[in-house]
Amino acid sequence: MLRIPCPWCGTRDEVEFRYRGDASVARPAAEAPLADFTAYVYGRVNPLGWHLEWWLHTGGCRRLLKVERHTLTHEIRWVGAPDQQPPPGAPS
Ligand SMILES: [Zn+2]
Repeated sequence: MLRIPCPWCGTRDEVEFRYRGDASVARPAAEAPLADFTAYVYGRVNPLGWHLEWWLHTGGCRRLLKVERHTLTHEIRWVGAPDQQPPPGAPS
């Protein structure tokens, strides 16, 4: 089980959170062609390594978090608010 350190509530079990998707992709502009939206919604890679993800703390503060998690080991090395970015320099 994952233990996710929520910046507002502290470290909690994974069951309090819901995965909300890939935080490394940006939503296309409103006037973007349909193909861009299709790629945004359905075109996902399945990376092996560090991945930036959205998690919603449904069982706590109900805030959206950005979590940098290793997809193989499930280690979490950074958690932040939606407008924050993980520090650069760590190998992916
Ligand atoms: Zn929380």
